[in-house]
Amino acid sequence: MTSHSEHHEQHEHLPHSSKELGVDLSGIRGYLFDLDGVLTPTASVHMHAWSRLFTPFLEAHGAAPYSDDDYFAYIDGKPRYDGVRSLLESRGIRVPEGEVTDPPSADTVHGLGNRKNDAFNETLAEEGVEAYPASVAFLDAVQAAGCLVAVVSSSKNAPSVLEAAGLAHRFDVVVDGLVAARDGLPGKPEPDTFERAAELLGLPTEACAVVEDAESGVKAGAAGEFGLVIGVDRGVGRAALEELGADVIVDELDELIPLLPDTTTSLDSPREDRP
Ligand SMILES: [Mg+2]
Repeated sequence: MTSHSEHHEQHEHLPHSSKELGVDLSGIRGYLFDLDGVLTPTASVHMHAWSRLFTPFLEAHGAAPYSDDDYFAYIDGKPRYDGVRSLLESRGIRVPEGEVTDPPSADTVHGLGNRKNDAFNETLAEEGVEAYPASVAFLDAVQAAGCLVAVVSSSKNAPSVLEAAGLAHRFDVVVDGLVAARDGLPGKPEPDTFERAAELLGLPTEACAVVEDAESGVKAGAAGEFGLVIGVDRGVGRAALEELGADVIVDELDELIPLLPDTTTSLDSPREDRP
């Protein structure tokens, strides 16, 4: 990454961290947000649910114990059954595929995935979920700047999470696990679900930014022709996110607000675009 620090006198009013980001948001007209870990701290709900599933399961199979590192390496951001397959593969455990309709008690890929989903919904119902304040501030700012927004989530629980977080009314376009399954779209790390969201917003992918916290999601963004891939570091780590293809990495999305073209210019300089 190169830094553009030579001529920063125009940006004296920006916070220090924003100057260092060195990113141009002026061409971005749409933001494609991952949900879990980007808009809502549901990653912790998911991590809890996966742990409740795999801790006893791996113990019963005499395999290496489940840890949060497993979540980041094999599960985070992927469709549910892919996460099950990937984790089992890491331990050399084989179970039948089964069917989507398998009961949560079945020791099949689909049964285990359904068991995890039950654990997730129980936790969500018990504890609720509150959106990250900095992410809501960024969402407010990009919408105020006239940009379009979509949610792109591997989760089939996206609507209930958006509802629980009070964000459902903010998004007309939600490409979640159910939409992907219905339309036969491959999940992250393939770029197809993000591409579909751009299409539904009526924007070329080059005018859209992908906002992701997961390895598979950043890979999906880097695999497409998107205008920008914004990595939010919730635990994957800056170096890893950058290596996977994130163009800019933040701890919180509100760091980007001062860089939005309309919010940085409209307050202090009226627009007079005379030739
Ligand atoms: Mg995520």
